[in-house]
Amino acid sequence: MSTKLNGKRVAITGGARGIGAATAEAFIAAGARVAIGDIDAELAAKSATGMANARPGATVAAFELDVTDTASFSAFLDSAHAELGGLDVLVNNAGIMPTGRFLDTDQGVDDRQLDINLRGVVLGSRLGGRRFVADGGGHLVNIASVAGVAAAPGVATYCATKHAVVGLGSALHQELAEDGVKVTTICPGFVNTELIAGITPPWLVRKIGYVQPEDVANAIVDEVWRERGGQRFVPRSGGAALKAMTFMPE
Ligand code: NAD
Repeated sequence: MSTKLNGKRVAITGGARGIGAATAEAFIAAGARVAIGDIDAELAAKSATGMANARPGATVAAFELDVTDTASFSAFLDSAHAELGGLDVLVNNAGIMPTGRFLDTDQGVDDRQLDINLRGVVLGSRLGGRRFVADGGGHLVNIASVAGVAAAPGVATYCATKHAVVGLGSALHQELAEDGVKVTTICPGFVNTELIAGITPPWLVRKIGYVQPEDVANAIVDEVWRERGGQRFVPRSGGAALKAMTFMPE
């Protein structure tokens, strides 16, 4: 990879751990300057300190962020913009995945999930997109899932939110192109993070294995490096995870 990402200014939601933190580390390794936002402000600050210590000279700032809250999201983008001296990339990564039988699930749990996984990405795409247009261009990276193109029992609303994020990305990829804004939707398979720790059936882990957060992070950095929009699977083929989701037994 060339030095093309040197000095790029990258904001990442849900960057305190998992895929978001790995993405921050991968961008820092590529020479970018990073701001992470997370509802867990304490963990975000701790993670940012760890990232900065691991790579002396790196710029990594941490902010409290609730992606469901318009004022909080605006404030995060303002702070990231001020801290980094602008913004080139926004990774809408924050997400949750409550599990359970749909009919037994409390509506409040699903409302929160809809708010974080869908409203948060719509909001981030709009606020980030407006900022990019004002600054002359940028790259939105929205994290969907293999559950955005396939479905499984026990995570029905999660699948609904991720299908919606895929649809949003396809539409924005077309609509924002003329504004100089690239839109990439990433569909990871099963990634070894706390989000799914303990809830993925062992037969499935045996069958397809996990993708590591670093694999997703490297794919994101690569897409930004290539300045490419559109939809991408991780692993690239999408194959194993997609098949497993599609044929997942009840
Ligand atoms: P994770 O639980 O490890 O990390 C998610 C982060 O988002 C946490 O730091 C959490 O504090 C933060 N967060 C939660 N609610 C927030 C809010 N309202 N505002 C700001 N931050 C908030 O999860 P992960 O596995 O790293 O998942 C990251 C993204 O990748 C999610 O969108 C998830 O749906 C998606 N994804 C994960 C997998 C997987 O197998 N782990 C697969 C496909 C897609």
